[in-house]
Parts: sequence; structure tokens; C-alpha cells
Amino acid sequence: MKCKRCRGPAEVQIRQHSSAFCRPCFIIYFHRQVERAIHKQRMFTPEEEVLVAVSGGKDSLALWDALQTLGYRTVGLHLALGIGAYSTDSTARTEAFAQARGLQLVTVRLEEEGHAVPTLAAFTNRPACAACGMAKRYYFDKLAFERGFSVLATGHNLDDEAARLLGNVLHWQVDHLAKQHPILAPTHERFVRKVKPLYRLSEYETAVYAFVRRIDYVVDECPNSVGATQLVYKDALNRLEAAMPGTKQNFVQEFLRVGQPRFASAFDGPPRSCARCGMPSFGEVCSFCNLLREVEDKRARRAAARPR
Ligand code: AMP
Ligand code: ZN
Repeated sequence: MKCKRCRGPAEVQIRQHSSAFCRPCFIIYFHRQVERAIHKQRMFTPEEEVLVAVSGGKDSLALWDALQTLGYRTVGLHLALGIGAYSTDSTARTEAFAQARGLQLVTVRLEEEGHAVPTLAAFTNRPACAACGMAKRYYFDKLAFERGFSVLATGHNLDDEAARLLGNVLHWQVDHLAKQHPILAPTHERFVRKVKPLYRLSEYETAVYAFVRRIDYVVDECPNSVGATQLVYKDALNRLEAAMPGTKQNFVQEFLRVGQPRFASAFDGPPRSCARCGMPSFGEVCSFCNLLREVEDKRARRAAARPR
């Protein structure tokens, strides 16, 4: 097979576009897809400083690498989640990536805040993934606002977006569908714009990019994700994709074109501010502070029950 750009021998096959590239041309293609996402959705300008959420996995490191190479101004944000060796490894690789390229990185250790994921999960009745997702969203919003950024970028790829869409559709979670978009404008004075510049690129493509660019990323999945429904959806979509290349892309693109605008018009952002922390909230306190209250209550009850 020949490279679509230079007609040399191709090494990377992109079935959903019925095309193939050699390594250097694949990098150019990848960067173009990122640029197209940024321009098409008006995510940010070259003048803006972008806070990039980096986990140490292939997607977010590929995103940071691509934005930096394309000349955007970036600062990395890493949350050390406290999930044992998995987190230690993630933090080490993120820090090594930043250091090797002379990039600015903010690392926040949830353990130091008393909010390590295992603690949040143990002191509430929630699955670890639910507590983790809530903590990440909260810290992303809060840190981006407090540090004066106007935009936060995450490494969500096409597979992430298709799996999330499938889950939201299967359960007809209309309020979630309303908020599923590669660019979310702030709906509260303490929210910043949230963007997903990799939403057009598949997990396979980000893995190839990371490999070709020699990015050293965490290969292991989070130990908590074993059996996660998201992985079941991804598996189902991969089977559809194998039989009908382009399914994932069509599913997401057509949702954004046809479905999402209808759901979005029915959605209002959080109407108030949390009484505890001031961040956007639907109720008296925000969902993360609600979680923290559960943790505090349970801790207090356990301490009271302990024999002296
Ligand atoms: P996930 O929720 O693990 O699928 O990750 C989705 C995106 O969230 C990643 O591509 C990153 O941009 C961001 N992210 C996940 N975990 C972290 C973390 N520990 N620190 C910073 N960003 C993260
Ligand atoms: Zn709060």
C-alpha cells in the first residue's frame, strides 16, 4: 500500500478514512486533524494559554505533544490520584515528559488534600470510578479557574466520545447528551471553556502517534477500570467498527450535527454557587462537596465507634 500524501511505502493504515500513510506523513495528518478540530469548533487561539490535563497516558501526552509542536501556548496539569503504583508511575512519566521538553507542569497531589481516590471511595458507598471522575472534574474546574486560565483541554479521543455517546443513548441521559460536545462554553462565572482537540482521532491513531513520536506513556489501564461499563461499550463499538469501518466517526459526527443541538437547547448550566466552596452547583452544595460531606460523616462515625 502507498502513502496517500507522498506515494512512498505506507506503514499506518486508517481504515475509517480508507487511507494509509508513511510515518512522517501520518504525523502531518495527525496534526492536521488536531488543527481542524481546534479551528472548526473554535476551541482556542494561538494567543491563549491552554491548560492541558495530562494523565500520563498516551492520549493526553499525545495531545500535549501535538499542541506544543503546532505552536500553541500550553501548561500541563496533572492530578496525582493516589491509586497506588498506577498513580506513582503516571506521575513519574508525566513529570519526565515535561522535564525532557522544558514544559511547565502543575502537579496536584490529591493525597495531600486528603482526597486520594481510594479514600473517597472507601468512605462513601460509591464505586471508585465514580468518585474519581467527580474528583477529576472538580479539580480541573477549580484549578483552571483559580489559576486564571480561559480554556482547559483534555485528551478524550474518538473512541472515548463514541463510548460515552453509546452509554448516554442506551440510558437516554438527556442532560448528559446536552453536555457532550468537543467544546463546552462556560455556563457559570467560575467555569472555563472545556475542549477536546483529539475528538476526531481514534485511540488507535493516538497510540500510533505516541509510538512514532517515542512518547513514554503509562500502558497499564487504571486497576479500578477493570469491568468498567465504558470498556464494554468500547468493545461493542470496536466490533461494529471492524465490520463497518467509519461507524464510530459517523456516530459521533452525526450526533454533533443532528442530535446534539436539540439536546443542548434544553440545557441550562448550574444556576447557583456551592455554599461550601463557591464552585458552580445545582443544589445547595456542589456534588463534590456532597461527596466530601459523606467522607467526613463516615470518618466521624468510625472515630466515635472506636473503643478508647
Ligand atoms: P479518563 O477519564 O481517564 O478517560 O481521561 C480522560 C482525560 O482526562 C485524559 O485524556 C486527560 O486529559 C484527563 N485526565 C485523566 N486523568 C488525569 C489525571 N490524573 N491528571 C490530569 N488529567 C487527567
Ligand atoms: Zn462545593
